[in-house]
Amino acid sequence: MLDRAHNLPALPPEIARRRTFAIISHPDAGKTTLTEKFLLYGGAIQMAGQVRAKGEARRTRSDFMQMEKDRGISVSASAMSFEFGDYWFNLVDTPGHSDFSEDTYRTLTAVDAAVMVIDGAKGVESQTQKLFEVCRLRDLPILTFCNKMDRESRDVFDIIDEIQENLAIDVTPASWPIGIGRDFLGAYDMLHDRLELMDRTDRNTVAESIKIEGLDDPKLAEHIPAPLLEKLREDVEMARELLPPFSRQDFLDGSLTPIWFGSAINSFGVQELMKGIGEFGPEPQVRPAEPRAVSADETKVSGFVFKVQANMDPKHRDRVAFVRLCSGHFKRGMKLTHVRSKKPMAISNPVMFLASDRELTEEAWAGDIIGIPNHGQLRIGDALTEGEMLRFSGIPSFAPELLQSVRSTDPMKGKHLEKALMQFAEEGAAKVFKPMIGSGFIVGVVGALQFEVLASRIELEYGIPVRFEPSQFTSARWITGPQDKLNAFMNVNKSHMATDHDGDTVYLTRLKWDIDRVERDQPDLTLSATKEML
Ligand code: GDP
Repeated sequence: MLDRAHNLPALPPEIARRRTFAIISHPDAGKTTLTEKFLLYGGAIQMAGQVRAKGEARRTRSDFMQMEKDRGISVSASAMSFEFGDYWFNLVDTPGHSDFSEDTYRTLTAVDAAVMVIDGAKGVESQTQKLFEVCRLRDLPILTFCNKMDRESRDVFDIIDEIQENLAIDVTPASWPIGIGRDFLGAYDMLHDRLELMDRTDRNTVAESIKIEGLDDPKLAEHIPAPLLEKLREDVEMARELLPPFSRQDFLDGSLTPIWFGSAINSFGVQELMKGIGEFGPEPQVRPAEPRAVSADETKVSGFVFKVQANMDPKHRDRVAFVRLCSGHFKRGMKLTHVRSKKPMAISNPVMFLASDRELTEEAWAGDIIGIPNHGQLRIGDALTEGEMLRFSGIPSFAPELLQSVRSTDPMKGKHLEKALMQFAEEGAAKVFKPMIGSGFIVGVVGALQFEVLASRIELEYGIPVRFEPSQFTSARWITGPQDKLNAFMNVNKSHMATDHDGDTVYLTRLKWDIDRVERDQPDLTLSATKEML
């Protein structure tokens, strides 16, 4: 990824202080708890625990489904903004459940960095690995938080080794834990030579911080029992010998991750991590786009939609398009060009999500995430600019891995069903294919749970009872090529052909073997498992 570190001129201060990032983790590693503490230190809430309570209220309001609550997963990503010291943080929430990974992937196109949370007892888990790979595709800088050090965890060198081996990234300790599990006392801040002590009596207090003059400072012995101190000295000496030192450039290039050890539930290590995000960055980055890349300090406003969330407020049938601003200083009421339709659009009710409240915002800067309520004009991948015909690249749409046919159990509601399905397709919640032959639709998703979510949403939001049924197809590929070749192919494969909600041609099949065969026999045609949105 292009970045600022390569001697580009300094960004305007309001942009330079923005930090836009996501948290990636395997379910249960502690992402929710960490988010809660971020908001606590960001002054967005008074007391930890409130987010969860507030979060629940927010969810019932916005995430509308009992089913979701029962399963304890959050279907939709949202963004939260708050100040921390001199910095302005935009934390984009990613759904943790693997069934919603496509949403997560797209969310990661909107951020400049990721915080990877791992459980100190479990190390790198499957979902961490998957999400990490996505970050790697974009060379996103990654900060690592090794959580739950108050519990029995693995040996610190083992954890670091595992990350280096499994994720092929260099790891540098930003802090070193003192004791593990019941003996966990705190950490030695390796970047600032400070001792951070954990307060076990109050989970919401900030750790005590003691300035230390290196590891021989006699002050250490006042706070750390001799055997633990000896181990700390040995460990840190070995770590400094064996592990790479922190390098901002390597971090920004995505080849080195600093790791903090802490306990989110005890508020320990969280502030140090936040300071790390502030201090090391990155600032809002240059965004890849066609026909040219966009730099954050350009005076003209530009941004792209990375997520659309429908029916956040059941009382208003609105949809909110989440836009990552890529350049400029946005002001409420601005007229921007909706590049896909080439039409002007007055952005009169932009919202920002400050903690769990949705508030009208008067202004926003490159790096920020704003929500734009609309009636369906804004789709994932859409660009908004001050007139230039830009297209932000790299926002993927994946071929669904599961296909089912859908029909309404109320035959009078067929037409409405089409409309509902098209809206979900535009939202990116599912792929909807209209077969060339016959009536009805085939819906494709990445994870099975999405069928249930869709069925309850169609019923709740549109009042249409539906049934999903197994489809004769199992795979879908977008197919492109010279029109005559494509037409000939479509003619002989009518029963396999369909169009998606954009009108693009799709080949449906039951057998992976079919795909291989077409690829072999039709050198002029291209089958693709992904397509860029828009
Ligand atoms: P998520 O699924 O990644 O969002 O994880 P949660 O934040 O919901 O945490 C999963 C479980 O781990 C919850 O029961 C938390 O209370 C617990 N947990 C989170 N952080 C810590 C920690 O630092 N220490 C301990 N012992 N438990 C924690």
